[in-house]
Amino acid sequence: MSEKAIQPKIANREVTMHILKAFGLRMSKKLGQNFLIDASIVQGIVDAAEIEEGDRVLEIGPGIGTLTQGLAEAGADVTAVELDKKLPAVLAETLKGYDNVRIVPGDILKVNIPEIMGDAPFKVAANLPYYITTPILMALLERHLPITHMVTMVQKEVALRMVAKPGGKDYGALSVAVQYYTEPEIVLDVPPRSFIPAPEVDSVVIACKVRETPAVEVVDEKMFFRVVKAAFGQRRKTLANALKGGGLPKEQVRDAMERAGIDPTRRGETLTLAEFGELADAFSAMAQ
Ligand code: SAM
Repeated sequence: MSEKAIQPKIANREVTMHILKAFGLRMSKKLGQNFLIDASIVQGIVDAAEIEEGDRVLEIGPGIGTLTQGLAEAGADVTAVELDKKLPAVLAETLKGYDNVRIVPGDILKVNIPEIMGDAPFKVAANLPYYITTPILMALLERHLPITHMVTMVQKEVALRMVAKPGGKDYGALSVAVQYYTEPEIVLDVPPRSFIPAPEVDSVVIACKVRETPAVEVVDEKMFFRVVKAAFGQRRKTLANALKGGGLPKEQVRDAMERAGIDPTRRGETLTLAEFGELADAFSAMAQ
């Protein structure tokens, strides 16, 4: 019998407590360390990512290897990037016997992802450190990496922003960016008791299927996100004033809105992705 076959599931309170004790680990709040102790949630992430034998998976923040083990058991080829310098030595023990796991020490916001993952398509699976959820999601999306699925555990409040539709308070630049690149769907509610230590917030697993082409076709993606950022930068202002205050050429704002057929007294949070696209294209046309 191979060594891994007798290894217990890490996603369990007793096993996790034992590992923490055995390695003298103190969990770091600063690094967003809340380790999963519920095997059904690990399985839920593996299922949502539709993991098949041989799938290449980038995991962010493996911790002590809880989700990593689930991914590896499902046959994925896992590359896991961990910032905490103490953890690679622990992972070498907890994941002993899995030859389909590679640990890369480093900061996910700084590592060169194309260098570690190569050009072939891959999936992302992670129980994210909540203090940098948005920067991580944005970095993964904006770089046009060959990602097909992104399944992450995030704070519920962030997930609600990711799936929000125009008109409500949750709709913002993150909603537009996530929906521009992906089709997000909340797949699991995860209570605080599923982690050690229990976080102060509710969590969810959100599955984002990356679109083959973005949700709207625009002439200049940079302009699209410039307009989106400006529109949500000053939410209480009318769209026209928010765009002027947000760095778009003041003298072009009225014309661009007219060309796009958008009433200047509307607020940014009421615009659909298609309308943001038309507005961005109007600015692009005038910049030529
Ligand atoms: N995957 C484990 C689990 O599900 O139990 C741990 C998840 S814990 C919420 C987040 C992990 O991300 C921690 O292990 C933490 O050390 C790591 N981390 C924090 N900041 C990071 C960064 N910038 N780059 C890579 N990993 C990071």
